[in-house]
Amino acid sequence: MKIRLLTMMLATASTFVSVSARQVETAAETKPFDYNDEKFADIQMLRYRVEGFDALTLKQKTFIYYLQEAALAGRDILFDQNGRYNLRIRALLEAVYTDYKGDRKGPFYTALAEYLKRVWFSSGIHHHYGCDKFLPAFKPEELRAALHEVSADKLPLAKGQSVDGLCDEVFPVMFDPAVMPMRVNQKDGDDLVATSAANYYAPGITQKQAEDFYAARKPAGDPCPIMMGMNSRLDFDDYGRLTERVWRVGGLYTGALERIVDNLLKARPYAESEEQQKVIDLLVEVYRTGDLRTFDDYTIHWLKDTRSLVDFTCYFTESYGDPLGMKASWEAIVNFKDVAATARAEKLSQNAQWFEDHSPVAPQFKKEKVKGVSAKVITAAILGGDLYPSTAIGINLPNSDWVRREYGSKSVTIGNLMDAYSKAAHGSGMDKEFVIDEETRRLMADYGDLCDNLHTDLHECLGHGSGKLLPTTDPDTLKAYGSTIEEARADLFGLYYLADSKLVELGLTPNADAYKSQYYTYMMNGLMTQLVRIKPGQQIEEAHMRNRALIAHWVYEKGKADKVVELVKRKGKTFVKVNDYAALRALFGSLLAEVQRIKSEGDYDAARRLVEDYGVKVDATLHKEVLARYERLHIAPYKGFINPVYEAVRDSEGRITDVRLDYSEPYDAQMLRYSRQYATLPAIND
Ligand code: ZN
Repeated sequence: MKIRLLTMMLATASTFVSVSARQVETAAETKPFDYNDEKFADIQMLRYRVEGFDALTLKQKTFIYYLQEAALAGRDILFDQNGRYNLRIRALLEAVYTDYKGDRKGPFYTALAEYLKRVWFSSGIHHHYGCDKFLPAFKPEELRAALHEVSADKLPLAKGQSVDGLCDEVFPVMFDPAVMPMRVNQKDGDDLVATSAANYYAPGITQKQAEDFYAARKPAGDPCPIMMGMNSRLDFDDYGRLTERVWRVGGLYTGALERIVDNLLKARPYAESEEQQKVIDLLVEVYRTGDLRTFDDYTIHWLKDTRSLVDFTCYFTESYGDPLGMKASWEAIVNFKDVAATARAEKLSQNAQWFEDHSPVAPQFKKEKVKGVSAKVITAAILGGDLYPSTAIGINLPNSDWVRREYGSKSVTIGNLMDAYSKAAHGSGMDKEFVIDEETRRLMADYGDLCDNLHTDLHECLGHGSGKLLPTTDPDTLKAYGSTIEEARADLFGLYYLADSKLVELGLTPNADAYKSQYYTYMMNGLMTQLVRIKPGQQIEEAHMRNRALIAHWVYEKGKADKVVELVKRKGKTFVKVNDYAALRALFGSLLAEVQRIKSEGDYDAARRLVEDYGVKVDATLHKEVLARYERLHIAPYKGFINPVYEAVRDSEGRITDVRLDYSEPYDAQMLRYSRQYATLPAIND
């Protein structure tokens, strides 16, 4: 599970308060690091710094070098998982982008460049967040003419296919709004499999067929169930029967997976301990066999290794891209521990049992013993697959319920990325436009960053790890609503405890008022400002956004009679006004208890009602107003990161003697280089 940036557009830092060592600029620094890079469509590209890399040992640097190679080698997989034409579309666009002979300042090339940048960013033709297909601003005829000018050996032509044949096959996918309109369709009542463009189920498979296929294979009463179906595509065999095509070496995606394994094995000698080598060995075995019991075994060893400074994940991990929430997208992150900032998260972990015992959840849904909640702040060294360029700021793994129950989970917040967001947002004008008054803005300036970080820590370190299912509850009961309910549970746990005097006692918040900054921000975001990410007339689809809307609208509704939170008008503009912060906390607590009950009992109907009633619908009038006000600020609602470039310095015998970092690579150059150097799958992939 992961948490994405919550208050991404808020400049809470107008009177910036430094909260930890990593945010203090070093004196030796001469020119300021530029966190903001280019902007296109609704996207702002940022850069992040890998602070502390130079201080690592050569062994650690070499370890990271090979791991980042593995992390980049899986890039093509995600494109193919997101839609079966994506690799082909990327290839033909890149051919025109690099070889175009016409006017590069003209409207066609400009529109093509923007479209390609969006395809790179989303790893496909659907919006990375909204999941809807975005359309090119150039005409099919223009692209067809340009493709005829490109040398044919650069084009992803099928055997015997002409350029026109390629256009006829692929153009409807790109240009026709009715073809593959959504990557993940979550609309209640639709056939979610048949109407989603994601490439996890072969064309022709219905939701019912897929659900029946897995229901029939689920062993009854297995206390340690594997996450069935997570590393395969469901397909038809030669006789028209359903069968899994497993993503493993020698199976589907073998080109990418072999390259990943190769680099994992190169990294292995530089691992920090025998335990960490064992982790790599097991992961390699999973890649080779696709066996999900081995995957659980790998996960357990990975969880137990809490001592290594350098850590990584590099496998099929999150299932947000599958409308049935089962099949996992490939992602990778290589990182090392931020020792100073980790002390903060550790305070929470050390008190995990206290938090569990004192939560407003009914006793039968609490864990008697909260196990191994390890928490740390990490510095990201490279982002790959479903974590690139759009990324998470916090990650909690594994996703297997029984492994979490027995062995706990690893929870991280990614310090250098949060820091980059915060620095880049400085002075965006968002708070001036949407925050109700100077007093609230001051609260946010003083405590915004601090409480944002803390909320993320609480969500990841404690929220996801808290509570338990009743023994009779099947973990998949909530189906399509499972992700939203789970995120709501973790968010509410964090919101509830942010206001607790325990945090002041632990020295994590400076006083009893600091939490209000996060409460205000959360309500404003859930009721209003997150709507900037939704197009007019559309509903909320994405799990994290649904969760925020659900929480904000539920507490707003339940506190209406007492005017706990109001929407007020000032000079024709709507503002969130929080009248009673203590009552708001009590409401968060009540909802936490109810959401935990729903999860623990597997109450599908209640989950569905909660999400559909509070988390999906958009007030059209308010939406229009928010979009208009936001528009005037000229801020891109989505952000993503350009990776640094790792260069290995080698001696005459090829041994690595140093690893150097370069932050200057432009976005398009990086994407084109990745497409060249990490072209691991054929563009026409079956
Ligand atoms: Zn989460």
